[in-house]
Amino acid sequence: MKQETYHDIIVIGGGPAGSTAATLLARHGHSVLLLERERFPREHVGESLLPFCYSLLKNLGVIEEMKKNFVRKPGVRFIDRDGTTSTTWCFDHIIKNETYLSFQVIRADFDLMLLKNAAKSGVEVREETSVVDADITTASDSVRVTSLDLTGQKTVHRARFLVDASGRDAFIGAKNGWRKPREELDRTSIWSHWGGVKLNGGLEEGLSIIIYMGREQKGWIWVFPIGENRITAGFVAQNSYIRDEQRKLKESGSTDWKRDLCMQELMQSKFVRELLEGSSQVIPMMINANYSYEVQNHYGSNYAMVGDARGFIDPIFSSGIFLSMKSAHLVAPAVHKQLTEGLNGENEMLVTAYKHISGAYNFVHRMIRLFYNPHSVTWAQAGADGVAHKAHESAMAAGHYMLSGDFFENYKKYDDFFAILEDPKHFQRYKKFVIDRKDFVKPSCHARWEDVFRDMVARDAERNAAFADA
Ligand SMILES: Cc1cc2nc3c(=O)[nH]c(=O)nc-3n(C[C@H](O)[C@H](O)[C@H](O)COP(=O)(O)OP(=O)(O)OC[C@H]3O[C@@H](n4cnc5c(N)ncnc54)[C@H](O)[C@@H]3O)c2cc1C
Repeated sequence: MKQETYHDIIVIGGGPAGSTAATLLARHGHSVLLLERERFPREHVGESLLPFCYSLLKNLGVIEEMKKNFVRKPGVRFIDRDGTTSTTWCFDHIIKNETYLSFQVIRADFDLMLLKNAAKSGVEVREETSVVDADITTASDSVRVTSLDLTGQKTVHRARFLVDASGRDAFIGAKNGWRKPREELDRTSIWSHWGGVKLNGGLEEGLSIIIYMGREQKGWIWVFPIGENRITAGFVAQNSYIRDEQRKLKESGSTDWKRDLCMQELMQSKFVRELLEGSSQVIPMMINANYSYEVQNHYGSNYAMVGDARGFIDPIFSSGIFLSMKSAHLVAPAVHKQLTEGLNGENEMLVTAYKHISGAYNFVHRMIRLFYNPHSVTWAQAGADGVAHKAHESAMAAGHYMLSGDFFENYKKYDDFFAILEDPKHFQRYKKFVIDRKDFVKPSCHARWEDVFRDMVARDAERNAAFADA
């Protein structure tokens, strides 16, 4: 065992949640040690950002780098199972400044940028160093963490506070038996990146495309443009379906069931079929299994969980990175206050932060239950047919706000919109009186190619060359 290190704060994990929390705490003048298991850049799922991330990225000082490196995203299109009914939600419907253009990122590059930014802000970053133990019970104002590096060296680290940002490993939750699966959302996804794709169908203007799948899968397909001719595409389905299909594929002689299953599901969509014709896969097939769970005891006197380590619901609304980074923005000042002023009783600021964080996660959970409810109106139908009425219009604006990420401060305001979507009868009543306002429904967000893909041509060439060399 190596000698002990001493810091104010230890952060487990260098994803968006960990990098953000570490950067903000280091900027407050604390000594911060960030321990990350992998060597970055490393690929990761979760590539579409909500517009409400914009101000957080600006605050971290990386917005100009973002603009140079990543595709811009003006909105999201939900396409129904029939392949024809769709609603395009354009963020400029409610956001009237430059932040309406969000981002589609390659996570290897995005996470590396945030981790480097943390190091630049004074965080001591140790990659290829796994946390193998974390004791939060020794005292109320200190923690003891053990790490293991690639040489097999174990080191003990002490700190006054621990931030668990270990993602879906949920280190503290798993270690203490506080991590419970959400059985009703037991999903798995399989995905990859393809190059040489001729972008169309909304991708050419940066839109995220989400396609509802049939009932059996209880899932959906995503297609996002992440380069001028590069996409990320994958599908999400319930675990029992994946298990059955895996068995069937193996019995029929498949030697690469993940790839075969991913292609089988993607090819069911005419839209994706046409898109992938003549393209080539540019990263290995990736799988993320069993990923919906909740964690209890999100914080204590000497620790706090942020990002997926605090809980993970379902990625359908591309909310994960925003929830993670915003949580880190709320938790960091509360931790700073505690470390500078001491703890007398409860940390009220942390209590308030977690009230907002839990409110936001519960709200997103409600959106997700609605998505999977076969009896409610889908996000693909909600804006179709020119549904717009003065009263309804404000509800549709609420839909845009929700899809942009307005869940922390304002989630209570959106109850009316939920009521419409949750009750098809209610929705039909609106439809009867309201239809035919064609001006409301946008078939396109009309984002300009040069605004969406400006620097992508050169970046794509570099990225493809790096992939070919690897
Ligand atoms: C199928 C799918 C699609 C998704 N799509 C989107 C999307 O479009 N948009 C979106 O915003 N979100 C999406 N998400 C969610 C998104 O991926 C996560 O919410 C986001 O990555 C959370 O960031 P994080 O920092 O909490 O965790 P992570 O990004 O997972 O980072 C955690 C880090 O901790 C490290 N780590 C773990 N354990 C240890 C340990 N013991 N010691 C040291 N290091 C450790 C890991 O190596 C990792 O680098 C999706 C998720 C899934 C499953």
